[in-house]
Amino acid sequence: MTHRVTLIPGDGIGPELADAAVTVLEATGISFEWERVDAGEAMIERYGTPLPDEVLASIRRNRLALKGPITTPIGEGFRSVNVALRQALDLYANVRPGRSIPGIASRYQDVDLVIVRENTEDLYAGIEHRVGADAAESIKIITRVASMRIARYAFEYAVANGRRKVTAVHKANIMKLSDGLFLECCRTVAADYAGRIEFEDRIVDNMCMQLVQRPEQFDVIVAPNLYGDILSDLVAGLVGGLGVAPGANIGLHAAVFEPVHGSAPKYAGLDIADPTALILSGALMLRHIGETAAAEHVEGAIRSVIGAGKVLPRDLGGSAGTKAFAAAVAERVGDASRAATKPSPARP
Ligand code: NAD
Repeated sequence: MTHRVTLIPGDGIGPELADAAVTVLEATGISFEWERVDAGEAMIERYGTPLPDEVLASIRRNRLALKGPITTPIGEGFRSVNVALRQALDLYANVRPGRSIPGIASRYQDVDLVIVRENTEDLYAGIEHRVGADAAESIKIITRVASMRIARYAFEYAVANGRRKVTAVHKANIMKLSDGLFLECCRTVAADYAGRIEFEDRIVDNMCMQLVQRPEQFDVIVAPNLYGDILSDLVAGLVGGLGVAPGANIGLHAAVFEPVHGSAPKYAGLDIADPTALILSGALMLRHIGETAAAEHVEGAIRSVIGAGKVLPRDLGGSAGTKAFAAAVAERVGDASRAATKPSPARP
């Protein structure tokens, strides 16, 4: 069977990482048909928008996309293509695993948690305006519908993946109505899982401190959009940095797999960025489409190449370029895939 996947290389370091990820994913022996579409600033001149209709149409058609990062101008210019895409396709759950990889010099060796971030509302709803010349307002939207479904997703994720606990993150001591509603929804959903999945909540500032001091106490973390975004970079820092942190945007009708990191423009085109996060996002995509053995081969190859310590990208203390690292991972993936499909010797 051939899997048709929308490929959005993105900009900055995105295109070279996309090439690396495609090389590794194809080494699994699975047949892919990549439908390449472009989004971002370069599209404005041709289409008048950084998110051409064709990008959304392609993802709707294939229901599956692998995406590199896309630059968003700071303080001016067009709205984030990443946020717009998640909202347009109602990709309501942003799932970001934070897992230690043996061989990466990091403060902790035993982190294994997952952030489930609400992906469609909160301060990212994009409702903001100037109030005269010297003030501005951004509106934080929290709804019962979105909070209930993300809480439900987090608990169902915990059940499906053998996790024991869900921690809800909020600032309901200050934002009693908006974050209060989010917490109320999490508590309501938690009651349905009582006795099966433990539940607790943390105020976001305390959560940052707890994560830095004792990350091993957390399992599944569910958070509104903004806190989930910030906590995911914090967790990436606990397991080796943004170069190794994968993610998935999941909706009812489509799923888009992309790393936590951005377009790191200063590294663009230099063959020095770490493709691990996009490769591992590809492994999450393989799991999503039921290609579990292939996903394990990709994750195993990353662990084995990093664990061996000979071919390492620069962010992990080595000197391998993006291409060389991807080639080393692809070679191991190929070996594992061939070994798995080799017929067992005939019995005498
Ligand atoms: P960034 O994640 O691009 O980079 C921050 C730092 O992390 C970099 O300087 C680099 O040291 C490191 N880093 C990130 N990815 C790496 C990789 N693969 N290999 C090695 N090192 C890596 O964050 P930023 O500088 O804040 O943002 C740059 C642009 O990316 C902005 O326009 C931002 O809006 C955008 N962005 C896009 C996405 C997305 O497409 N989903 C996510 C975050 C940021």
